[in-house]
Amino acid sequence: MSLPLEFFNYQNGVLTSGGVSLENVARSVGTPVYVYSAEAFLHPLRQLQAGLAEENHMICFAVKSNSNIAVLKLLGSQGAGMDLVSGGELSRAQAAGIAANKTVFSGIGKTKTEMSLALQYQNQGIFSFNVESIPELHSLNEVARDLNKKARVALRFNPDVNPRTHPYISTGLKKNKFGMNRKEILQLVGILEKEFRWIELHGISIHIGSQLLSLSPLRDAFDRVQTLIDEVNSKLKQPLRFVDLGGGLGITYQAERTPSLEKYCELICKYFGKRSPYKGSLKILLEPGRTISGNAGILLTEVLYRKERKQKDFLILDAGMNDLIRPALYESYHGVVPLFQESARDPKRKVTLVGPVCESADCFAEQRLLPSSLKKGDCVAILSSGAYGFSMASNYNSRPRPAEVLIQDGKFRVIRERESYEDLLRGEIF
Ligand SMILES: *Cc1c(COP(=O)(O)O)cnc(C)c1O
Repeated sequence: MSLPLEFFNYQNGVLTSGGVSLENVARSVGTPVYVYSAEAFLHPLRQLQAGLAEENHMICFAVKSNSNIAVLKLLGSQGAGMDLVSGGELSRAQAAGIAANKTVFSGIGKTKTEMSLALQYQNQGIFSFNVESIPELHSLNEVARDLNKKARVALRFNPDVNPRTHPYISTGLKKNKFGMNRKEILQLVGILEKEFRWIELHGISIHIGSQLLSLSPLRDAFDRVQTLIDEVNSKLKQPLRFVDLGGGLGITYQAERTPSLEKYCELICKYFGKRSPYKGSLKILLEPGRTISGNAGILLTEVLYRKERKQKDFLILDAGMNDLIRPALYESYHGVVPLFQESARDPKRKVTLVGPVCESADCFAEQRLLPSSLKKGDCVAILSSGAYGFSMASNYNSRPRPAEVLIQDGKFRVIRERESYEDLLRGEIF
């Protein structure tokens, strides 16, 4: 059976990654456990770097998709910058040793405390704030004035294009809360010098949505960004220095056909690169999250019970929606495979895989064809869990969050310990 994951496969009948048997991981670390492949993170990063090699560019990994410090260090060591959305993520970037000039700060609700931390990050401050509203720019201007430091910003443009993805992860429509429209941005540019003395406008940013399966909404957005950049430049003394094109490129969870990273980069170069009307004057920033981390991880979980019913056969797992919320939150699909490879002769049966949490939404997969021999004590892997998996995990039902393991150079190591009950109680006053 072939997996949609390039970096996880069966060897001698056991699911492995980079030569490491996941049976060993499960036995020594326990379950549930997130298992990541270093090579799998680096492969798409290198493809993006190769696609933009001719351009002045910076690839800022969207930390929110997978914020483990060891993962950030790995990506940072290979040249990635970071896209941050909170002060907490800034402190993670700092722990991972990411240089200030390789970090951008996105998000519609930055607090003044967060702005102040980011402006003082490694003294020089971050590369850019992606500002999403006029009131936010006022706050940033005040913080910058109080610190006597200029704030470099990009204005986040909402291009009003439909990314044709799940409504919860589309962000570039007029009705979405993100970004500013063309009129707002142009008005703002008009009053920038007078009203925002501590702000330096260096770029325009967009991020139209996540899990995009076609380049055409991006093409529509890029057209509008070009028009806007030209209009903005006509009002500025010094033209914009960069364009931040966000993230959002989709990955294969099931059988989706995704745009190749090569084609994606070609499109970017055509619109904004050396051979575009900007002739290399714009630095190109990207903020890929899922593209890099999505298929770099799986969630390994044990079958606690098999509960056979006439209508439905349930496998109750030791992982729950608190560990991986995507199926419950977005009704998203994740492949599920057994730790031990099934043989073609094994009889199969449809099962519904659920977690132990007291919510009917705590279901990973409905009616999947899996070996009918799967029973109590066996393990299965929930695939494509590297993005928005652990980073969205919670302690709901007072469940400790799972361990995280990284496979690199033929070895595995724990990069986050499983939480203990002590961890759960910490901070409570009673
Ligand atoms: C979430 C987000 C990203 C990353 O999105 P992916 O779909 O994971 O690539 C990038 N930029 C911004 C501003 C975001 O909010």
